[in-house]
Amino acid sequence: MKKIISLLVSLIIISGDVCAAAKEKAVPILLYHNIAVVYNSADDALNVTPERFQEQLSSLKDAGYTIIPFQQYIEYANGNTDVPEKSVVVTFDDGYSSVYYYGFPILMRLEVPATVFVISGLLGFNDTVYPHFTWEQAKEMDNSGYVDIQSHSNFHYNAKEISSSRLILELRKSKYDIETRLNKKCNILAFPYGEYDAQGLSIAKAAGFSCVARTRDWGTNRKSDGLFNLNRIFVHGSWTGKDLIAEIEKNNLM
Ligand SMILES: [Zn+2]
Repeated sequence: MKKIISLLVSLIIISGDVCAAAKEKAVPILLYHNIAVVYNSADDALNVTPERFQEQLSSLKDAGYTIIPFQQYIEYANGNTDVPEKSVVVTFDDGYSSVYYYGFPILMRLEVPATVFVISGLLGFNDTVYPHFTWEQAKEMDNSGYVDIQSHSNFHYNAKEISSSRLILELRKSKYDIETRLNKKCNILAFPYGEYDAQGLSIAKAAGFSCVARTRDWGTNRKSDGLFNLNRIFVHGSWTGKDLIAEIEKNNLM
């Protein structure tokens, strides 16, 4: 009888564990780059119109999603807080001026937080098709409470194609400049092109980054995945809000 009872108890414990694992929240991190009124449809994965950006965010909210700050996801992964059942994180890479002129007002209007990974050595650089916002604009956005400026390295080199001493400089200078110019903690790194290896990761950790985001077009994130290999979903400008939600739900099943 004792044996049967202990067997039943262990079965209950095991099934409890299975349920807990199955219930682990899957949090998608959306990745945007540029916001443009018109763009070449071949660059659909890197562009979104202001109207479409607003529609995608509004649709998420209407469908019961909560757009949480990236830092809240980190706190959740560290076991310090919880996140709502249907949570989403919004990020931008590169730090284009369009994020300041088009994205920032929309984020404020809809009260949506977003993390912007800047190529810190290119802030204010505008002799290009895709100009970058300035340090003053970065400060204004960061001070608003809606935008969290983080690092996308100093000059956007592929970490796998430069020397380790150059990579150390790329990451440390970027973190230092963001922290001193914006008077804040820079703790998240998005490697350029999402490219890095084990050595790159250890250089990022040694530089003081406590979280690293990849650049992939699939996958969500679970607490048990840790904070050094976070997936992001490339959001396409042609996706309606409904398409975006379908893509998130598809990814949540993986
Ligand atoms: Zn980039």
